[in-house]
Amino acid sequence: MSEQTLTRAAVVTGGSRGIGRAVCTALAKQGVNVVVNYCHGEAAASETVALCKAAGTDAVAVQADVSTAAGCKALFDAAAAAFGRVDILVNNAGITRDNLILRLTEEDFDAVLDANLKGAFLCCKEAARRMVRQRYGRIVNLSSVVALRGNAGQTNYAASKAGLIGLTKSLARELASRNVTVNAVAPGFIETDMTAALPEAVRAEMAKGIPAGRAGSPEDVANVVAFFTAEQSSYLTGQVLCVDGGMAM
Ligand code: NAP
Repeated sequence: MSEQTLTRAAVVTGGSRGIGRAVCTALAKQGVNVVVNYCHGEAAASETVALCKAAGTDAVAVQADVSTAAGCKALFDAAAAAFGRVDILVNNAGITRDNLILRLTEEDFDAVLDANLKGAFLCCKEAARRMVRQRYGRIVNLSSVVALRGNAGQTNYAASKAGLIGLTKSLARELASRNVTVNAVAPGFIETDMTAALPEAVRAEMAKGIPAGRAGSPEDVANVVAFFTAEQSSYLTGQVLCVDGGMAM
């Protein structure tokens, strides 16, 4: 970053809980000011803000549905109002609507694609405009190992996460000469609300397929996001890094 004295500012979509919360606190520990986006969980977002402030930086919670263009515009307007700039975007917000294809509705397909893929596109568009102008930026997209391996019952989710990899690599090519990096993290099985709903037998079976022998923590993923956003990672773009205890290799 050319203006070394400036405190960097990040927008983390879905920062209220799970991996997003861990990302917010990891960035705060790096001295980054954080916009904690949420959709429904105001109380959880406030807790994340408190955790960031306890780490010594400033943070604000901003409600916005990233699956809509209006929501993304409002999110970035709020970020600009709070910190004057956006240096880091972490597209973390995501949902699942699992079903085998014969039972998967068009509505559930669209809902997952809109939240996971279109939301990332819309936020990237808002961020790119600002980052190109300031000749600096770091974008990290939360994909998944299911984008690489597929998963029965998740055709919608896996398609959205595979789409994010194509988006990541294409945008990395568009923005590299402007000192904006774009990378993706592909988590495996991480302990959050998203996976807590699974029956114990399914969780145990999944753990058997992980060479590390355990599920990951949100912090395991957040550490890698923070690596991609670090100042020292300026020559690293268009990459997809699995954080999965060896699951997808
Ligand atoms: P989670 O615990 O279910 O949290 C999801 C977050 O996304 C919440 O903060 C939620 O906010 C937010 N969100 C959902 N829809 C939104 C929308 N339309 N606009 C704004 N925010 C929205 O999920 P997680 O497990 O931490 O997963 C985080 C990311 O990692 C997701 O993209 C997920 O697909 C990916 N991932 C997770 C795993 C895993 O094993 N957990 C594995 C691979 C990839 P509200 O609560 O306010 O609605």
